[in-house]
Amino acid sequence: MTPFTPEEVERITDDVIEKYRRHVNPGVANLLKFAGFGVPEWEGEGAVVRDIAGKEYLDFVGGYGVFALGYRHPRVVQAVAEQLHRLPLKTHYFLSRPVADLCALLAEVTPGRLEYAFLCNSGTEAVEGALKAARVFTGRPGFISAAGAFHGKTFGGLSASGRDVYKEPFQPLVPGFRQVPFGEIEPLRAALSDDTAAVILEAIQGEGGVRVPPEDYLRQVRRACDEKGVLLILDEVRTGFGRLGRLFAADVYGIEPDLICLGKALGGGVMPVGAFMARAEIWEAMFGENPYLHSSTFGGNPLAAAAGLAAVRATLEERLPERAAALEPRFLGGLRAISAQHPDVLKEVRGRGLLAGIEFHDPDVAKLAITTAGHRGLLAAYSLNNPCVVRLEPPLIVTEAQIDQALESLAGAIRDSLEVLAELE
Ligand code: PMP
Repeated sequence: MTPFTPEEVERITDDVIEKYRRHVNPGVANLLKFAGFGVPEWEGEGAVVRDIAGKEYLDFVGGYGVFALGYRHPRVVQAVAEQLHRLPLKTHYFLSRPVADLCALLAEVTPGRLEYAFLCNSGTEAVEGALKAARVFTGRPGFISAAGAFHGKTFGGLSASGRDVYKEPFQPLVPGFRQVPFGEIEPLRAALSDDTAAVILEAIQGEGGVRVPPEDYLRQVRRACDEKGVLLILDEVRTGFGRLGRLFAADVYGIEPDLICLGKALGGGVMPVGAFMARAEIWEAMFGENPYLHSSTFGGNPLAAAAGLAAVRATLEERLPERAAALEPRFLGGLRAISAQHPDVLKEVRGRGLLAGIEFHDPDVAKLAITTAGHRGLLAAYSLNNPCVVRLEPPLIVTEAQIDQALESLAGAIRDSLEVLAELE
């Protein structure tokens, strides 16, 4: 329940939509209102979120992976609340215990020799830091990334990303980036040169439409990079902290990246936290001569670090990566069963752990299905770099019953969409 009467809900909704139209983003306001989601969000707990009218939604958007622990995980909330009432942001003078503890824990749980971490506020900042570290360590300018990739929307992240519609208006981007097809080793090998500082990849492309590469792709990339003395940056902003059924995608695919980018779930669904990490020798090149060569006012603030520490501990102690692996057959199997019933509408279901992409033949039907799912109380996501794909990223704490409920809503949403299309014809 929410504290608002139906009249108040209507008044607040109109007011918020109008302010979005005039002061935030008219396109977003119109789109959400048109789709029937103009009522503002109010509160969340576990895998469920409510709007100000009290309507409940099962959240399988999961904040694009942020809400791995669901909304307001008690341990994260408590850690942040305690820190909040003592010292919320950093002095920039003293050392910080939560920062020390989080970076040490990250070093312990990340694969291989990733020993040092720089804490920042978003995924794209983590990517920026990793790109800078790769250039300074290798002394080379070039980067190879994959078509369809998504690494954020700052200049560096955008330069590495792979959909022109988001890039063209901002040209010229950062020089030195080249893209190769995702999941194919030969074009990547051919693109590596003595000028290449690093290859940057997602293990599974998220915004690219949950594209899963061949099983041995990352190991082949690792080998090709080693042969040329090129660094491998693994962008685990989306896949990190259990999403694919192991703590990191690097564990799933059995590789050790030279640098890793983290974000989203690292903040436990309570604080924005990002990080990039690397081996000691890379850190030496980045910070050895000048410890302030890369820095951030808010990055590594005590609130964020307290959230990150509680989030990683909860993820490990509640065995959430194992949970994602155990739920995978129910989740992906259920989606595949739905897909098999509608071969004329659905092309394929892809995924791993609790990350799924449902590819439609027609992007307009995909958008319609997102809307009709919402009307049935299921939140599903659009994929920025592949509009044919509806993405599902439930919290890792999701129950079996909630997965079943989501599958039922999705099947209903597809039927609803087909009815709408039939009426239009
Ligand atoms: N990398 C990947 C793989 C992502 O999925 C995203 C966000 N969707 C980012 C980087 C950028 O993160 P942020 O939006 O926090 O800047």
